Amino acid sequence: MSRLRVAVVGSGPSGFYAISALNKACPDALVDIVERLPTPFGLIRAGVAPDHQTTKNVIRAYARTAEQAGVTYFGNVELGRDISLDELRGLYDAVILAVGAPADKVLNIPGIDLPGVHGSAEFVGWYNGHPDHRTLNPDLDVSTAVVIGNGNVAIDVARVLVKSPSEMADSDLPAAVADVIHASPIRDVYVAGRRGPADAKFTTVELKEMLGLEEAVSLIDHASLPETVPEDLEGRDRRVREKNLLTLARFEEEGDPAALDGKKRVHFAFYANPVEVRGEDRVTGVLFETTCATEDGKIAGTGTFFEVPCGLIVTAIGYRSRSFEGVPFDHRTGALLNTDGRISGNLFTVGWAKRGPSGVIGSSKRDGDRVAEMILSDWQASDGGETAGRAGLQALLEERNVPFVDYEDWRRIDAAEIDRAQETGAPREKFLSVEEMLAVLEPTTR
Ligand code: NAP
Repeated sequence: MSRLRVAVVGSGPSGFYAISALNKACPDALVDIVERLPTPFGLIRAGVAPDHQTTKNVIRAYARTAEQAGVTYFGNVELGRDISLDELRGLYDAVILAVGAPADKVLNIPGIDLPGVHGSAEFVGWYNGHPDHRTLNPDLDVSTAVVIGNGNVAIDVARVLVKSPSEMADSDLPAAVADVIHASPIRDVYVAGRRGPADAKFTTVELKEMLGLEEAVSLIDHASLPETVPEDLEGRDRRVREKNLLTLARFEEEGDPAALDGKKRVHFAFYANPVEVRGEDRVTGVLFETTCATEDGKIAGTGTFFEVPCGLIVTAIGYRSRSFEGVPFDHRTGALLNTDGRISGNLFTVGWAKRGPSGVIGSSKRDGDRVAEMILSDWQASDGGETAGRAGLQALLEERNVPFVDYEDWRRIDAAEIDRAQETGAPREKFLSVEEMLAVLEPTTR
C-alpha cells in the first residue's frame, strides 16, 4: 500500500495543528512543510507580541511535531515563486494552505495613504523582526500616536509603544527596533474604538496588562462606561465583556492631572469612528465622528466630529489572507473561499486562511482535525496510486537551485539567534533578513 503524502504550506499554528491531526489520523503519513521564510512558526514568531514570551512557548510543541520521522521541513520555499500550486498539487495526495492572514484589512477613508499611517500587519511585523517589514522605518519622532481598533492587536501595539526598556528586557524585540521605540518622544497613545466599551474585542488578560505599567497610565472617561453589557450577549462572550468593563473601571479618569505623575498616557476612546486622516505631506491628525449605539446593536454617526492631532496612526482593524492564482478569494471574510476547509479537489485550507482572523491560537486545532479527516477519507477512497511527494519536491527545488533549508538548518539559525542575545539577556536577537539567516548556514548552504 502506498503512503499518504501531504504538503502543508505555512508553518504557523494552523499548519502545525493540521500536521498533528494528520499524524494522529494516519501515523504512516508523510507530511512536508513548505515555508516561505527560513524560520518556522509564522504568527507565533512574528505576530504574537515580543513581550508575550509565555505564549510563544507553544513553539516547543510544534518543534516536537516538526521533529517526527514522517515530517520534513522545506524552509525558504515560496509557493508561486519557487513552485506553483499546480505542481505541488500534482506531487502530493493533498495540499493544505495554512498561510494565515498576513495582510491588513484596509481602512477606506480619505488620507489613509499619507506617510505616518501604518497597518498593524506591517507595524507588528516590523517590531517583531519579520523580514518583509524590516525596512518599514516608521517615524516615531512624534508626540502622539493613534491606534484604531478595539481588539487585542490594538492593545499589543499600544503596550509595546509605551512599555519601558526594563519592561521589555525579557522580550525578543529586535535591538534596532528597541532603539527606535525607546528613543521615541511619544507621550500620548489613543486607542480608538468605533463602538462602546462593552463591545470591545479585547480579552481581559490583555486589558489588565494596561494597569500597572511602569511608565504609562491608562485613562478612560468613566462616564462612557455602561453598567452592564448588552442583554443578548451570553456565555463566555458575556463574561469576558463584563470583566472588561470592571477592568476599564479601574483605569484612571481621563483629564485628571493627578493621575499622570509624569507618565505616558494611553487614552481609551470609545464611540469614535475614524472618518478622515488629516495632513498634507504626512499625517497630522485623525478626524473622528462620535457615534452612538442603535437599538439593533449597531452604531450610528451623531454628526459631531472631533480631531486628535497625531504624527502616527496604526490601524489595527483586522487582517486578510493572501490570494493565489486559481484559488478563489472571499472578499467578505478576507479568507480563501472554501467549504468546511476544502477549496477544491485535493486542495484544503485551515486557520485564518480558512476562517478569517479570529479566535485564539488553539482555535485552529479543529480546522486541522476536520481537514485531516477529509484527506484520509479521500485517500482511502482513492485508487492507491503513489504520488512523488518529498522526492519529487526536492528534485524540483534542486533543479531550480532554490536554496531551501531543512529543520536542522533552522535549529542552527535558532541557536545563532539565541547566542547573539547572550549579552543582553533577551531570549533571542532575531536575524532581520533572509540573507542574514542563510549566512548562518554557510558554507553548508545548498
Ligand atoms: P479584532 O479582534 O477583530 O478587532 C478588530 C477591531 O477593529 C474591532 O474593534 C473592530 O471594531 C475594529 N474595526 C474593524 N473595522 C473597522 C473600521 N472600518 N473602522 C474602525 N474600526 C474597525 O482583530 P485583531 O485585534 O486584529 O485581532 C485578530 C485576532 O487575533 C483576534 O481574534 C484577537 O483576539 C487575536 N489576538 C489575540 C492576542 C492575545 O490573545 N494576546 C493578541 C493579538 C491578537 P468592530 O467590533 O466595531 O467591528
